[in-house]
Amino acid sequence: SQPWKSIEPIGLDAIKQLTIAFQADTNPNKILLGEGVYRDDDGKPVVLKSIREAEKILYEKKLDHEYAPVTGVASFCKGSKKFAFDPKNQEQDDRIATVQTLSGTGSLRVAAAFLNKFLPKDTEVYFPDPTWGNHNSIFNDAGFNGRIKKYPYFDAKTGGLAADGFLAAIEKMPKGSVILLHACAHNPTGVDPTREVWKKVSKACKDRELVVFFDSAYQAFATGNEVDDAWAYRYFVEEDGHQVIVTQSYAKNFGLYGERTGALHVVTGSKQEATAVTSQLAVIIRAMYSSPPIFGARVVSTVLNDENLLKQWRVDVKEMADRIRKSREALVYELHQAGSKRDWSHITDQIGMFAFTGLTPEQVERLIKEQNIYMTKDGRMSISGLNTKNIKTVAQAIHKVTS
Ligand code: PLP
Repeated sequence: SQPWKSIEPIGLDAIKQLTIAFQADTNPNKILLGEGVYRDDDGKPVVLKSIREAEKILYEKKLDHEYAPVTGVASFCKGSKKFAFDPKNQEQDDRIATVQTLSGTGSLRVAAAFLNKFLPKDTEVYFPDPTWGNHNSIFNDAGFNGRIKKYPYFDAKTGGLAADGFLAAIEKMPKGSVILLHACAHNPTGVDPTREVWKKVSKACKDRELVVFFDSAYQAFATGNEVDDAWAYRYFVEEDGHQVIVTQSYAKNFGLYGERTGALHVVTGSKQEATAVTSQLAVIIRAMYSSPPIFGARVVSTVLNDENLLKQWRVDVKEMADRIRKSREALVYELHQAGSKRDWSHITDQIGMFAFTGLTPEQVERLIKEQNIYMTKDGRMSISGLNTKNIKTVAQAIHKVTS
């Protein structure tokens, strides 16, 4: 038989397609400001000092390569829970179900499968508008097709948060809906609620009895401090008693992109509930990929459980966050130097890996075609692709297409 004959080729999402187009570009001066991967000032990938140290320790241990348990490396799960929540007592610790996952994406996928299996079949899930493109694909794939809705998040006029619209939308969500929030460094906009707004969001979600879902892909990468970047969901749990879900990625903050290292946390009401939830997550994982990879989990667990390495990691992650922040300032400075009269202050107000520049799809198209500078059509720029060597060129090119 020829069962595949009628299959049509299909492109990946816009971000992956952009990388492919960039790689095909033969211009030696091309610049990629697309995917959210950290680069140093020479545009090179970075392995953190703390990670190198952990690798050495692991190498010396001559560990075996046996399967991890279905729920992952135990010391990693324990360390991840502390890293995410820093539980205030044993009772709080006991009622958080934690499993290891295939980075943030895998965590989202397992969580979506869990929600689809255990929430009422008509439950809707609400994403910020805009959100990371893969959220849609992941939840569709897990069975939420037709039940994915948006809530206002970004105010294009100010380049900031549409706080009023956001809060008003929550009040209209059907009770029991799932609301997806970005824990920090919102992707693609770089716009996060202030703590005052977070408090209102928490209260509004409580009033609507929503299932609160935090995607935490950038803990410590945004501000350089893991406590500040976990503030929102810790507040939801500790102050308002939300039983949140947190999907945690170690791709950016530990630089472990390809190691697919992440965790899924489900805050429950009791130790017994947490045990039951963990067992159900294990069933989902067993059928999906049986058990997670061990290397990244061992690396993270080595760092999290060693005071000196943790100290070094804090220096490493701060260095990344600081370079991103300085690049934002430098870009705005160079835009003005290039003669731009526009207000670019949103670029320095925003935080994390991305800036939502406000460039139109046509302007981005010109940047790609005329200047060989690649970013997604929505005007999202990966700040980490900027460095002291290319920032002037980028600023001049942006000024050219926006004036
Ligand atoms: N969630 C958001 C908002 C992201 O930006 C990303 C990565 O870009 C992820 C989740 C998951 O990334 P990974 O699967 O590499 O951990």
